[in-house]
Amino acid sequence: MSRFYGTKYKTMDRHVLLRDVDVPDIREYDVYVANGGYAAWKKALTTMTPDEVINVVKDSGLRGRGGAGFPAGMKWSFIPKDIFPKYVVVNGDESEAGTFKDHQIIDGNPHQLIEGVALCAYAVQANTSYIYLRGEFYEPAQTLQRAIDEAYAHGMLGKNVLGSGFDLDVHIHLGAGAYICGEETALLSSLEGQLGQPRLRPPFPAVQGLYAKPTVINNVETLANVPPIVMHGAQWYRQYGTEKSPGTKVFCVSGRVNKPGNYELPLGKYTIRELIEMAGGTIDGRPVKGVLPAGSSAPILPAPLLDTKLDYESIQAAGSILGSASFVILDDTVDIVWAARKMVRFFKHESCGKCTPCREGTYWALKLYDKILSGHGTLADVDMIGEVAGQMAGKCFCLLGEFATSPMQSTLKHFRAEYEAFIANHQGGTMNGYADELIREGVIAGPEGVIAHH
Ligand code: SF4
Repeated sequence: MSRFYGTKYKTMDRHVLLRDVDVPDIREYDVYVANGGYAAWKKALTTMTPDEVINVVKDSGLRGRGGAGFPAGMKWSFIPKDIFPKYVVVNGDESEAGTFKDHQIIDGNPHQLIEGVALCAYAVQANTSYIYLRGEFYEPAQTLQRAIDEAYAHGMLGKNVLGSGFDLDVHIHLGAGAYICGEETALLSSLEGQLGQPRLRPPFPAVQGLYAKPTVINNVETLANVPPIVMHGAQWYRQYGTEKSPGTKVFCVSGRVNKPGNYELPLGKYTIRELIEMAGGTIDGRPVKGVLPAGSSAPILPAPLLDTKLDYESIQAAGSILGSASFVILDDTVDIVWAARKMVRFFKHESCGKCTPCREGTYWALKLYDKILSGHGTLADVDMIGEVAGQMAGKCFCLLGEFATSPMQSTLKHFRAEYEAFIANHQGGTMNGYADELIREGVIAGPEGVIAHH
């Protein structure tokens, strides 16, 4: 029985990704097969051409679940047919704050991922796949390796799979735990043994990816959708979700709620408010102050927008992004200035340093937040935070730098009054509620909260 299974993850809609969540021992090959596992893989190899597999995924409208939401079938169709070798790379880095869906899929139902990888590899005619997991996923990596070994032993991977003439090898690669390695080109560099930093695009990975060869990069959740799509067809998949956001999505809910966990829901059917209710409501029934729909990368949505529907277009229209759908719920006990600083500190730590706007911008933004949080801030510092974010936006080499502006710009937009009240209430550098935290982080020293680096 997987350690993830239990009431914590029970929810009313589990059609595709978490459909077997209550099946005991679904991680075992025999149990997976007894519940319909590898039927799609057999169907594809015996009755479908690679192009037919691409087309059914295209017709399903499946969008990448890693963050960007790019249509998966279209991405596969970009792979040149006459260049070899080709690769399928699985992005299992999952380092966005508040995201833990891929972890559950990998550890809870690893064969579902392997089957999705196999179908993708067949579709683009790649004979090698690398599953890139973040370094901290040590236990899930072991679970996944056992499942891969089982798949080889039963002829689902390896040479001449099921007598089809198609060969497929699948390898696991553990990263070193850097957020930037979730960016697809940095992930490829890391996989090649280089420094995990983003590469200039074009050329895109579909043309020159791993080892400069055509490469599909898809997220774990994206590929776990593929077996049921191939098995039941595009129209079956489209019964869930909206026209532009078909299917279901695993929503990770964390923060100030009673039942944090993964909730699989059809896209566009429910609102943010309903998602919070499914997660048991807020702790002590406190009012929601704001929601981060995609962890620290997403602009915060304030409480008046809680009736926004849960799909890519609706969240975007509300002023944020659905991304990996890691919903962090903030109630009225959370100090927005403190929360924004936490996120800026995260991005400053994770900036790879390659480009100046991100490297310097996150550094100086954190300095300003430290000054405010330690009781030395002025209203000019608040304006300067907006200035720094404005200088970063649109000028960074990759999305990490753009994402780093979200906590600054969106909290200033919706909660500027909280910044002003914070400065008014914490003047003089005397010990405030955050002194312990700031001393621990080496920002301030001494009982009177003298700033260490200003
Ligand atoms: Fe590196 Fe940040 Fe520039 Fe991205 S935006 S390349 S993470 S320094």
